[in-house]
Amino acid sequence: MLSSADFALPNKGVNFRPFPRSQKQAAMKPAIHYRIVPVSPEAHLFEITLTIDKPEPAGQRLGLPVWIPGSYLVREFAKNIVSIEAFDEHGSLPMAKLDKRSWQVAPTRAPLTVRYTVYGFDLSVRTAYLDQTRAFFNGTSLCLGVEGQLDAPVVVDLVAPAGKDYREWRVATSLKPLKAKPFAFGSYTAANYDELIDHPVELGDFTLIQFKACGVPHDFVLSGRLPKIDSKRLARDVKAICEYQIKLFGEPAPFDRYVFMSFVSGDGYGGLEHRASTALMCSRDSLPQPGETGMKSSYRQYLGLISHEYFHTWNVKRIKPAAYAPYPADGEAYSRLLWAFEGLTSYYDDLTLVRTGLIEVDSYLELLSHTITGVLRSPGRQVQTLEDSSFDTWIKYYRPDENAPNSMVSYYTKGALAGMCLDLHIRKETAGKQSLDDVMLALWQRYGRDFYQGKPVGVPEEGWEAVAEEVTGLKLKPLFDLLLRSTEELPLETALAQVGVLWQARAQVGAGDKGGWLDKAKPTGVWLGARTGTDAGLVKLTHLFTDGPAMNAGLSANDVLVAIDGLKANQANLDAVLATAKPGDKLEVLAFRRDELLKFKLKLDSAPATTVGLKASGEDKAKQAERRAWLGA
Ligand SMILES: [Zn+2]
Repeated sequence: MLSSADFALPNKGVNFRPFPRSQKQAAMKPAIHYRIVPVSPEAHLFEITLTIDKPEPAGQRLGLPVWIPGSYLVREFAKNIVSIEAFDEHGSLPMAKLDKRSWQVAPTRAPLTVRYTVYGFDLSVRTAYLDQTRAFFNGTSLCLGVEGQLDAPVVVDLVAPAGKDYREWRVATSLKPLKAKPFAFGSYTAANYDELIDHPVELGDFTLIQFKACGVPHDFVLSGRLPKIDSKRLARDVKAICEYQIKLFGEPAPFDRYVFMSFVSGDGYGGLEHRASTALMCSRDSLPQPGETGMKSSYRQYLGLISHEYFHTWNVKRIKPAAYAPYPADGEAYSRLLWAFEGLTSYYDDLTLVRTGLIEVDSYLELLSHTITGVLRSPGRQVQTLEDSSFDTWIKYYRPDENAPNSMVSYYTKGALAGMCLDLHIRKETAGKQSLDDVMLALWQRYGRDFYQGKPVGVPEEGWEAVAEEVTGLKLKPLFDLLLRSTEELPLETALAQVGVLWQARAQVGAGDKGGWLDKAKPTGVWLGARTGTDAGLVKLTHLFTDGPAMNAGLSANDVLVAIDGLKANQANLDAVLATAKPGDKLEVLAFRRDELLKFKLKLDSAPATTVGLKASGEDKAKQAERRAWLGA
């Protein structure tokens, strides 16, 4: 049996009644058909023709989801529908707009056609984009769901833009071809609406790198203007990540083909996971160039992103919160478990790099120190728990404002650190016999493996912890209470000491200091109590920390510092002042708030030692062995 439609339209609204799929309908050939044409690259318009063989006779309802799974913010994709019309063989049919995302067509028993145009000019992995150089889209942006027939198989015809300029364009997608040669325009198919919107599509004249991981074909597609790249190295490194993760959850891989779609630009970064593909954005300089041998930090970050999105193939695309099974199309899906789905994915992304030997232990500990420093520099960790951060992602994490550091904690970074504490705790309490890997595997076997095999069961809110206790035989509730439901500091230093990692808490050195070991570190210094950016060469305060010197002096976010003690302020001389000042020193600060010049007396205070350095210790052989078991190196 096919899995039920995972992205459900709501059972509410006037005159609505659900239309259960009959056995006869299930046996019929696809009766939902989308024809997608990038009709005007210059105007960034797609034209979609949707035909429904058997529309609901009382009046067919259609709607776009308001969000895309993986990105927890209501984005209201229907706002980009520019025009829409419906007709059958007898002519035009009136359409009533029901709400911000759905329509109802006038009753007809004849096959129904709906033609609409969608504006796509968002250069992100979440929506749709079209210009003369490429097109990219998610089904959540272009494909109206046919209410009552969301379980039905669909056919998608992908049509090339007209004109000789587009002759070289090809198609990259993990949608199954129905009548299309590899990478060619033609007919593709999906078993239901949920599957349709989980296979984004890239169109253009892209670069293709192919390899197999554990015998499964992987296509790596790079679009955008490329520099010269070392494609052999990229393939080798990504393959190592893929094979490690496939084996972690056990072969066979849960897909028969996987597609990476990476848009390359000057400064892009980001990714969104799907069940057999991922859409990525990266900067040109993060790609490995021919002749380059070392691991530059931008490439390390890119491999970390690839590792992150690929890990989601198991953790969130298949093992997923019950609240996402099905995803509600009309609004938020609330779960307190995002720390497990994003945080643990963040824990495993860099862990995969060190366990496969792509980075050294020192390099891994540097990344870990950046994560710890980031969390410790957010006073919001003392206000919001990980569970609350997960639940409120819709209004907080995805909508951060200037007060975000004081009011929230990231379930990505703190979630990754909580995952590490849990992992090291399990390793210690079971004398190395078990680890977080065993918990992930058990979750996979119970919830993930058969999710698209007719058993779409999500993890209940209390189910994650239950599996962890069951697998390890440990009483983990006190630890979970601490990690997930309190704002106590995480026991990071103790956990890392167990595996012979030295901990250094020190003062920040300059604005660019993200953490990392310093041989001559000062334990404390003075600080401003603010994050800064630049505005026309001047220092702009972007975020002020609760009770920090800047806030106590009356400065606010968006204030632009003009002068400090009578001298023009820029980041370099601000850093210089802070490097030599002592707690209690006073500064006279002139700053613009909007267009008004204001004067402040700022009393410097001791900086909290929230910048962390980590280093592997070589002294204790037992701890070294534990570290090797943990990091695989
Ligand atoms: Zn993620």
